[in-house]
Amino acid sequence: MKIIKVEPLLVGAPTPGCGLLSNRNYFYILVHTDEGITGLGEATLESHDESILGALKDLEDLIIGADPAQVAKLMQVLIRQRFWKGGVVKASAISGIELACWDILGKAVNKPVYELLGGAVRDKIRVYANGWSGGATDPVIVRDKAQEAKACGYRAFKFSLAIPSWPVSDLSAVRQIRHIAETVRLAVGDDCEIMFDGHGRYDSHLAVRVGQALEDLNLMFFEEPVQPEDEEGMARVAREVNIPIAAGERLTRLQEFRRLFQKEAIAIAQPDLAHCHGFNEGLKVAHLAEAFDGFVAPHCPMSPVITAISLHLDAVAPNFLIQERLFLNDWRNEVITKPLVVKDGYLDLPKGPGWGIELDLEKCKQHSRIVAGTPRLFRPDGAVCDW
Ligand SMILES: [Mg+2]
Repeated sequence: MKIIKVEPLLVGAPTPGCGLLSNRNYFYILVHTDEGITGLGEATLESHDESILGALKDLEDLIIGADPAQVAKLMQVLIRQRFWKGGVVKASAISGIELACWDILGKAVNKPVYELLGGAVRDKIRVYANGWSGGATDPVIVRDKAQEAKACGYRAFKFSLAIPSWPVSDLSAVRQIRHIAETVRLAVGDDCEIMFDGHGRYDSHLAVRVGQALEDLNLMFFEEPVQPEDEEGMARVAREVNIPIAAGERLTRLQEFRRLFQKEAIAIAQPDLAHCHGFNEGLKVAHLAEAFDGFVAPHCPMSPVITAISLHLDAVAPNFLIQERLFLNDWRNEVITKPLVVKDGYLDLPKGPGWGIELDLEKCKQHSRIVAGTPRLFRPDGAVCDW
């Protein structure tokens, strides 16, 4: 079997809501073969669509003619035979290709991908909602949105607060975060899991203050308390805050995850299969975490395609914790022909060959590419903050 064509497909997917939200395109990659099997991957990297298109163009001569059944070797070629190994743009483009190859492999033998990897070790996949608040910062709206998400079948909820903050000490920001966290806990009740995403907004000193302010609310994890490259800072937060730390959505190399585990900076790895060089690398991260008695909770705030793909990793990783899913109750859920349905906190394992899903191409065509945008945050003095 040979790859004969790589077809990017961009679907405009603005995020509805009331806060600072990123408008993105879903970046799908269709890999066509000479045997008539087409594989589906996703490489969504918000606000970097032209970069991904360019990276695919740069790698095209290595991909066309390759055998998708030798996906592991193709990955070695793509990562190592252009001298420059990576960065998240190249890693995302490569991820999209790798994921499509696995889809082809499953379709070629008429089995779900997880059955090619020893089979599922669980019957269904625990899931949590992200993005359910629509970016709201008003506690009344947050409360209503949390109850709406719970009514849609979720039993675990991640929240975040996109407000600018001062470094080291910002009592107002800590108070607002605490207030929102109390609101979410009250809205969903004591039997639901909640988690807080710092989104890398804080330095380690402020992150310790934020984390300690949330300790009594029984959070499952505190995500990206600091920027992921601040490994010592993250380790300090992990030492000083009594909430497990999770991170990894912006990492692309196994070695980066290894350093975080070695430094006891994280308990939970969050590889994003659309960024970390694909499924096999994500699975390596899961195994690495297992060796440190850690857990894996794949990052996934994008389209239902990458969610469905992630379910295959969740199925086979013994140390799987919980799967992220963007809260969708509109057309975005229907870009795949059989939309995923959350039931009492779980998603079913996909049953069909490959990833077990197909794009609804008619639906995709109805939502043409948009101008993507990532929100920008500034402090009162005009200085730049991380969103
Ligand atoms: Mg995050």
